[in-house]
Amino acid sequence: NQDWQGKHVTVAGLGVSGIPAAKVLRGLGAVVTVVNDGDDERSRTQAAELEAQGITVRLGDGATLPRSTELIVTTPGWKPDKPLFAAAAEAGVPVWGDVELAWRLRGPGAAPWLAVTGTNGKTTTVRMLASILEAAGLRTAAVGNIGVSLLDAVLGDQEYDVLAVELSSYQLHWAPSLRADSAAVLNLAPDHLDWHGSMAAYVADKGRIYEGNRVACVYNAADPATEELVREADVEEGCRAIGFTLNTPGPSQLGVVDGILVDRAFVANRQKQAQELAEVEDIDPPAPHNIANALAAAALARAFGVEPAAVRDGLRAFRPDPHRIEHVADVAGVAYVDDSKATNTHAAEASLAAYDPIVWIAGGLAKGATFDELVTGAAGRLRGVVLIGRDRELIREALARHAPEVPVVDLGRTDTGAMSEAVREAARLARPGDTVLMAPACASMDMFVNYNKRGEAFADAVRALAAESA
Ligand code: ADP
Repeated sequence: NQDWQGKHVTVAGLGVSGIPAAKVLRGLGAVVTVVNDGDDERSRTQAAELEAQGITVRLGDGATLPRSTELIVTTPGWKPDKPLFAAAAEAGVPVWGDVELAWRLRGPGAAPWLAVTGTNGKTTTVRMLASILEAAGLRTAAVGNIGVSLLDAVLGDQEYDVLAVELSSYQLHWAPSLRADSAAVLNLAPDHLDWHGSMAAYVADKGRIYEGNRVACVYNAADPATEELVREADVEEGCRAIGFTLNTPGPSQLGVVDGILVDRAFVANRQKQAQELAEVEDIDPPAPHNIANALAAAALARAFGVEPAAVRDGLRAFRPDPHRIEHVADVAGVAYVDDSKATNTHAAEASLAAYDPIVWIAGGLAKGATFDELVTGAAGRLRGVVLIGRDRELIREALARHAPEVPVVDLGRTDTGAMSEAVREAARLARPGDTVLMAPACASMDMFVNYNKRGEAFADAVRALAAESA
């Protein structure tokens, strides 16, 4: 830790990762300055707390590089094209993200990382993986967006044998020296392109997760772009490419045969029969995209040497987090499902594929997405559609183009209360046996604080409906 004594570090941004990073660095003896674009009530309160600990905070000026800066630690939200980073490049100052910082601060003999990224399914897969590792008797944690924070996992008192780490494309962008034991890219679809600048840049950032892998690079056999990233990665000698597929697996793959998840990659004799891991029905919910998540988690665990029985026990013990294809209630023979976490079209496609017939509640912030493909794929299964949120027009137009026969109710509302009207409209359209699916394919911030609140509003509305019909 001598390295940090008196080192001038600039932290870019307050917030959920900036504040803990600043405190940790100060604790190590660094001279810390936090620069922040905003200068509002909340940031002033946060600044006062940090200043009490000897940290300098500059509010309302996130663009100027403090003169003595030797290192920038940035929060993932900061776009790479910010002026601060241009100034850093000019001055030859390195930039680390929160993941890079955690990676560098981990102690000698620290737990290896099994890392997961992808456009969708990261949290689910990491939690499945942690559940499997726990079932194997290993000391572990799901680290990332949910669960333990990276810095806590690396610096806290708790000792771990292995960590299951969720990594976003933003975090990977700023993590040049990260070396996972094994890593998986679950899938690649356009998302966050406004941040990365292009699909190519987004994919390249995701691909960083494979750099320097020691044991296995896990890819999605149905998504050639993920396999391509493995081919391009510079890995340790002996590191294997392992695919997962919903079909019969080839050698070096995990897959599904007759409703059973099987492993052909980590068996003694590869010509021999595949090793059985778990049944499709062991997985909650047993929808195709979620089987894919389970296979990716199983591949990472098997690469770490986990026995098949622990894979099965871990997958059986796993329960999904709220708002991810969550069954809320049945009312009058209709199932109501909350997939508020479907914040992009690729995620909504997965849950729309899992039900038939569907009354679909959709809309919100499109983030530059187009809906033609999504609507075309789902058209045959739609009983009706209820639209809410700011960019609902885009979905309505796509429906008019590709599914003109499907009844559409456009509520024309972007207020929080619209969800309860949407549920009522959906109930009117649905028939017994149908599923009302709230999978908006859009971000929630036009109407709600976040996707959790959107999901809760849906669940509240469904419960109110159930109470009335009881
Ligand atoms: P992330 O952490 O990547 O946002 P989550 O595990 O929280 O992913 O799942 C987010 C949403 O994405 C789910 O609600 C579901 O609609 C969808 N989803 C989950 N897994 C997949 C997958 N493998 N492929 C496509 N969509 C998925």
